[in-house]
Amino acid sequence: MKILVTGGRGFIGSHFVEQALKRKWSIIDIDKLTYAAHQSLPWDNHKNYTLIKADISEIDHLTSCDILINFAAESHVDNSITSSNAFVKSNILGVHNLLELVRGKPSYDRPLFFHISTDEVYGDRLTGEFTEEDKLSPSNPYSATKASAEMLVLAAHRTYGLDYLITRSSNNYGERQYKEKLIPKCIDCLENDKSIPIHGDGSYIRDWTFVKDNVAALILLIDKKVKNNIFNIAAENYLTNLDVASTVIGWMGKDHSSIRYVENRWGQDVRYAVAASKIKNLGWKPVHSKGLFNWLNH
Ligand code: NAD
Repeated sequence: MKILVTGGRGFIGSHFVEQALKRKWSIIDIDKLTYAAHQSLPWDNHKNYTLIKADISEIDHLTSCDILINFAAESHVDNSITSSNAFVKSNILGVHNLLELVRGKPSYDRPLFFHISTDEVYGDRLTGEFTEEDKLSPSNPYSATKASAEMLVLAAHRTYGLDYLITRSSNNYGERQYKEKLIPKCIDCLENDKSIPIHGDGSYIRDWTFVKDNVAALILLIDKKVKNNIFNIAAENYLTNLDVASTVIGWMGKDHSSIRYVENRWGQDVRYAVAASKIKNLGWKPVHSKGLFNWLNH
């Protein structure tokens, strides 16, 4: 299997590449190497791994492959609130460019367009869970760009017949996540004797999925040759931001004076919740994502 990965130097993409190489799949990784990328990874010299430093919104050629899996994105909500230009370029124009390059290929050479999206495209809800049929109602510039990208993918399927897959996963956690995200930020602050900034009163709820569980779902979809479908991925592991910070404080033997409440995020989403029954019906279940404590065992 030959897979073109975009954003494989980032957090989730790197876990996908790691698993794919274990399966002896051949990987070409197109990554712009932004601040969020890993400059070096253990498989850099692997015979089945090739890195191409490039921006998905600017490339003009796609090598032949079976699947194009697009992880590349600007991924941090707070940055998108400060300035959304880079988000529009990478997350919308980048996806548009990739779709155009796939469309330009003869039909026998078109890969499956596997697009990695987010549960944030639905916006928030106070009770219950979104299913894949629910309307997208993103709340912040990041999630708006991710929803826009999905619209382009779905339109390319309907108009040009491109085969696609979309996954919308909840918050991921695990090794190699950039320190702007909540868990590594908590660890970084505590290691450097700084207080942890928590938006508002910290009561905002997210569903936390261990990154290896998310990647297992992606590989299951590939193994089962699923196409032209959308799947939520979530471990039903609901925690407030304050729960998360408290857990990390506990891991590191600190106390709650390490928390500093700061101005709420503008447009804060109160609770994300998606139903994962569709992917579970294909045989997926989260095996690592119980509480946050299991991370310590990996
Ligand atoms: P990340 O920020 O850790 O990594 C993103 C990677 O994409 C980096 O290596 C970066 O260099 C690369 N990149 C960014 N713009 C690019 C461009 N224009 N061209 C080529 N490469 C570019 O992100 P992540 O947390 O690993 O997220 C991966 C994907 O999963 C994203 O699409 C994100 O929206 C989605 N997602 C993330 C989470 C999460 O909790 N982290 C949850 C749901 C969905």
